[in-house]
Amino acid sequence: MNYRHIYHAGNFADVLKHIFLTRALIYLMRKEAPLRYFDTHAGAGLYKIDRDEAERTGEWSEGVGRMLAAAPPQSVQDLLAPWFEAAGLNSENARTLYPGSPVLAQRLLRRDDRLMLSELHPADAKMLTRAIGRDKRVKAINIDGYVALNAWAPPLERRGLVLIDPPFEAPDEFTRLLAALDSAWRKWPTGTYMIWYPRKDLPAVGRFKSDLVKTGVRRMLCIEQDVEDVAASQTLAGSGLVIVNPPFGLEDEARTILPFLTQTLARGPGASWRVDWLAGE
Ligand code: SAM
Repeated sequence: MNYRHIYHAGNFADVLKHIFLTRALIYLMRKEAPLRYFDTHAGAGLYKIDRDEAERTGEWSEGVGRMLAAAPPQSVQDLLAPWFEAAGLNSENARTLYPGSPVLAQRLLRRDDRLMLSELHPADAKMLTRAIGRDKRVKAINIDGYVALNAWAPPLERRGLVLIDPPFEAPDEFTRLLAALDSAWRKWPTGTYMIWYPRKDLPAVGRFKSDLVKTGVRRMLCIEQDVEDVAASQTLAGSGLVIVNPPFGLEDEARTILPFLTQTLARGPGASWRVDWLAGE
């Protein structure tokens, strides 16, 4: 396991993922009934972005750093406000500390909601436990996220969201992810699932999407963003989210947010975004 998220925390891909994670949780919280949040690949929880590892790549400055300097139109600002708030981007720590998905969810969720987090890297799992602190709503475990999901789904509440955000180091990551989603969805077809993937090997992404469709999983919305021409770039330049059972309204929000977001995060020619349904009802 070589991947450490500290090198990438707050980059353009985190920005996309964390904005839509926040929006989806906000929608789910419109109903009073408690929900459960699963984070299969939780990471370390909180990242000191002024530390060596983060500064060496400088990815934060082309992600969150740009968002701090941007002036979105009011319609977008209203939608981004909860993420800004929960991520501490309005605070004086905004340039030193960035929360990953589990801490973001912890800050957003309510007293009766529950969070189940799995992280396989022992050092990151330890940091995650520290970042979460004492919080009875949260269980953070040092295990494989796919094993955890299989054991944990469906939750008692029968409503909630699963974030699947692997590092894509292993050549069979798309295959494992697909099998895990397929089996979780069969046990819990009404859950919302948010899957993050890199847009690097485009033929592999194409195969992943067509294999997803073949599973028979329904209601899959796909949001993609490239910050420059992916095929011409030497580094990661695009990412996507597949959202199964997206809350009603998320698609329209994506269409409102993405033009501004892509313009703000663009690194060069070929910056683009798209929102499509991979599978309908
Ligand atoms: N979700 C986090 C966020 O948005 O802040 C970032 C997660 S990072 C992209 C992927 C994480 O998965 C890394 O911390 C890595 O150590 C962990 N990981 C790798 N393989 C795993 C596995 N099989 N199960 C659980 N965690 C794993």
